[in-house]
Amino acid sequence: MNVWQAESFPVSLHFPRKVGESMRRPLIVGNWKMYKEPDEAVGLARALISAIGGMEGERDVVICPPFVCLQPVFQVLRDSSILLGAQNMHWEAEGAYTGEISGAMILTCGCTYVILGHSERRQHFGETDATVNRKLAAALEIGLLPIICVGESLEQRRAGRVEEVVLGQVEAALQSVAAKDVPGFALAYEPIWAIGTGTASSADQAEEVHSLIRNFLRQRFDSKTAAQIRLLYGGSVKPDNAADFFARTNIDGGLIGGASIQAETFAAIAKAGG
Ligand code: PEP
Repeated sequence: MNVWQAESFPVSLHFPRKVGESMRRPLIVGNWKMYKEPDEAVGLARALISAIGGMEGERDVVICPPFVCLQPVFQVLRDSSILLGAQNMHWEAEGAYTGEISGAMILTCGCTYVILGHSERRQHFGETDATVNRKLAAALEIGLLPIICVGESLEQRRAGRVEEVVLGQVEAALQSVAAKDVPGFALAYEPIWAIGTGTASSADQAEEVHSLIRNFLRQRFDSKTAAQIRLLYGGSVKPDNAADFFARTNIDGGLIGGASIQAETFAAIAKAGG
């Protein structure tokens, strides 16, 4: 498969505005995980448009429903400013990979973004730094914008290994990636111990790691490129702590799980990100 779909598909209408060197446009992403059947997903998407609509121009809002909901949800979103993402993809364009979905398939469902390397996939489905890197190459090839997830376990944090683990994951994911491919990228720092636990990292802790990632990106690419990558925080973000995270210099938005499957809470978080 190649990019013919990208050229003819209306998703290009939704391509996010370019982020400048000093001004990163906030990005708020909802990861619906394995929640919502197609009818429910359509209902939630409609509720989100009512709750979030009218905030165009201030931030990018993306929702990532389960695969079977992508197409019906895209039909609801196509006249709105909310963008669609998938939660995973395979690195091959097609083939005998039972149960897998290719980048072209999710692109033709209306996706602009794809989440790669979520810790739940690393933990339960054998995702590794190497597979994340292969998926990233495939996403770039077809024109999907990646949201690459990294983050340490509690054990690794307690052992003082946060920098080594997180920067190691970032480095491995970005292997062979050129600076020219980077605008539009997002990296989500999601400490595993904060995901779905109700115990978020403090905004100071998160900013410290984000700043390490930004410095790494400066060395890996250059200052201009590093300044364009949006760094998201994920892990028990709620309406009452979102603004604190989003106010930090290197936190450009959030990857939101549990709080994204209710229109009111996700809208409140999205509004905090502008
Ligand atoms: C996530 O799924 O990426 C996530 C951050 O989940 P939660 O917001 O529920 O912690």
